[in-house]
Amino acid sequence: MSVETQKETLGFQTEVKQLLHLMIHSLYSNKEIFLRELISNASDAVDKLRFEALAKPELLEGGAELKIRVSFDKDAKTVTLEDNGIGMSREDAVTHLGTIAKSGTADFMKHLSGDQKKDSHLIGQFGVGFYSAFIVADKVDVFSRRAGLAASEGVHWSSKGEGEFEISTVEKADRGTRIVLHLKSAEDEFADGWRLRNIIKKYSDHIALPIELPKEVAAVEGEEQPAVEWETVNRASALWTRPRTEVKDEEYQEFYKHVAHDFENPLSWSHNKVEGKLEYTSLLYVPTRAPFDLYQREAPKGLKLYVQRVFVMDQAESFLPLYLRFIKGVVDSNDLSLNVSREILQKDPIIDSMKSALTKRVLDMLEKLAKNEPEQYKGFWKNFGQVMKEGPAEDFANKEKIAGLLRFASTQGDDGEQVVGLADYLARAKEGQDKIYYLTGETYAQVKNSPHLEVFRKKGIEVLLLTDRIDEWLMSYLNDFDGKSFVDVARGDLDLGNLDSEEDKKAAEEVAKSKEGLVERLKTALGDSVAEVRVSHRLTDSPAILAIGEQDLGLQMRQILEASGQKVPDSKPIFEFNPAHPLIEKLDNEQSDERFGDLSHILFDQAALAAGDSLKDPAAYVRRLNKLLVELSV
Ligand code: ADP
Ligand code: MG
Repeated sequence: MSVETQKETLGFQTEVKQLLHLMIHSLYSNKEIFLRELISNASDAVDKLRFEALAKPELLEGGAELKIRVSFDKDAKTVTLEDNGIGMSREDAVTHLGTIAKSGTADFMKHLSGDQKKDSHLIGQFGVGFYSAFIVADKVDVFSRRAGLAASEGVHWSSKGEGEFEISTVEKADRGTRIVLHLKSAEDEFADGWRLRNIIKKYSDHIALPIELPKEVAAVEGEEQPAVEWETVNRASALWTRPRTEVKDEEYQEFYKHVAHDFENPLSWSHNKVEGKLEYTSLLYVPTRAPFDLYQREAPKGLKLYVQRVFVMDQAESFLPLYLRFIKGVVDSNDLSLNVSREILQKDPIIDSMKSALTKRVLDMLEKLAKNEPEQYKGFWKNFGQVMKEGPAEDFANKEKIAGLLRFASTQGDDGEQVVGLADYLARAKEGQDKIYYLTGETYAQVKNSPHLEVFRKKGIEVLLLTDRIDEWLMSYLNDFDGKSFVDVARGDLDLGNLDSEEDKKAAEEVAKSKEGLVERLKTALGDSVAEVRVSHRLTDSPAILAIGEQDLGLQMRQILEASGQKVPDSKPIFEFNPAHPLIEKLDNEQSDERFGDLSHILFDQAALAAGDSLKDPAAYVRRLNKLLVELSV
C-alpha cells in the first residue's frame, strides 16, 4: 500500500446524506443496479478522456486500450471496478463524490416525507448514480488519478456512507479510477463471477467499450495459480450504430438509463439513421417521468453529441427547441468536426437543419404515441404537458403539429383532466360549428361553473376549459387549428355564427331594442367602471356577466404581468345583462335612482366575483348588499 498524505475527513453535503439514506432504504429490492451505475460512470469517464485526448494526445499516456475491468475477491468480500478514463483529481473527488451539483436539489429533498414507500418513488425523479454503491457496500474506497496529473497526485477517497468521507493524496501509477466495494455481509453474493457476468449482460451490454471479467480457470492441484486472463463480457459496440431490427427493447431501455441517468424505463424512443446530404444517427427518448428539475433554468438538457462515434459533449442544447428539453438521447454526426464547440453549434447551418429534422422526429414520435397508446400519452401529458404548451410560441413552423398534441379539460369531462385533443373536439363539434370555443380561468372549479358557459350548455356546445397559468399566453399564439379559429367565450361580443338560428338572432335583436332604455340607465349608474353595457346572449341563468374587450388582456395575463412588476394597461370590462332574469326585470322597474345604482353595482361586483376577479372596493359591495338586505327585512 502506498503512502497516504494530507489526510482529511470531510462531511457530506446535507443533500448527499439525505440521498444516501433514501437510496439505501428504497432501492434494496433492486440492489444490483449499483453495478450499472458504476459502469455507466466509468464509460462516461472514458468518453471524456477520448474527447480531451483529441486536443491533448499525451493524456492517453502510451495509449493502452480503453476499457473497464470488474473483479472480485470472495474471501475479502470485495468487488472492484477499474477504468482507464479521465479520472479525478483530489478536488474533483471532493466535489463530485461529496456534493450534488444539480440546482434545485435542496428544494427537492424538502419533498421527502420520511415515508419510505412514497419517497422511494421520488428517487426515480432524481436518479441514483455513484452513491448506489452503498446499497451493497458498507465501505467504498475510490482510488483515482486525473489524466495528465503526475503519478504522485492520485487521490484516495473512502467512506462508510454515513456522514463523512476521508480523502488523502496517494501515488497512483495508472490514470483512471478504481473503486473497491467492501460488501455488506449480507451482500457477498455479488463477489461472484457468474453473478457479475449476468448483471453486466443484463444492464450494461450496450456500453460501447469492453467490460472485462477475469476468466474462470479451474485451479489444478499442486500447480501454481495461473496469471489472470481477462475476457470481455459485453457486446462492446455503440448501440445506436446497430440496425434497429437487431436491438431488443430491453437494450434500448438500458441504454436510455445510461444516457439519461434515469432510473426508470423510457416511455418511447425513435432510432433513425439519416443518409444523404447530411449523415447522422439519432436515438431519441421520451422519459416516462419528469425529472425534479424540469423547470430549473440551469437543469441539464440537450442530447449527447458524438462525432463519428467519438463522444464530443453532453447536453448539446442546439439540436432541439427548449420546449422539447425533456427529450434525452444521442446524436452521432458524420458531418461535424471533432473539435466543434458549443459556440460553433449555435451558429452552424448544419445544426439548424438537423434541429428541424430532430424536432419533427420527436413530434412524430409523440403523435404516434398519442394515437397508438392513448393511456401512455395521458401520462406523458401529465408530466410534460406544461412544457409542450411553450411550443407554439417558440416553434412557429410546427405550430399546427404541436397544437394537435395539446390536451385540455373541457365541459365534456367532469373532473378537469386534460384529455381532450383538438382533433377529438372538432370530430364531435356541432353541425355548423366552425369555431373552437374555450374559456380561461384560475381554477377548474371556477371555470366549470362560469356563467359564460350557460348558453353553450343550453346548446350542447363543448367548451375547452383552460386553467393552467400559461394558458391565456398560449392561446395568444394559437389562432386556428385545422382551419377553425379559436374563440375565447369570455371575450368580445359572442357570435355563435351558424349555431344561432335566424329566428334566435331576430328575437335577440328585438329584445336588445326594447332594452335600450335600461342600457342607458345602467351606463349612467356604472359610469367609469365599464367600457360598455349591452344585452347578453350568453346567459340563461345568471343576471349579468362581465366580458373582456376584444383587444384587452385577460385576467391571467394581467395577473402574470402584475406579479412580474410590469405596468398593466388599464382596461374596463363590458357589462352584459340577461333581460329574462327576474332581478333584471326588477331593476328595469326600479323607480328610485339610488336603489337602481346600488343594485347595478351589486350585479357588477357579483359578475366580477363569478369571473374569479377581486373587487376594487369590497367594502362598498358589502355596504350596498347589507343596505338592500335591511330594506328587504322591514
Ligand atoms: P452522474 O453520473 O449523473 O454525473 P454520479 O453520481 O453517477 O452522477 O457520479 C457523480 C460524478 O462523479 C460524475 O459526474 C463524475 O464527475 C464523477 N465520477 C464518478 N465515477 C467516476 C469515474 N469512474 N471516473 C471519473 N469520474 C467519476
Ligand atoms: Mg452516473
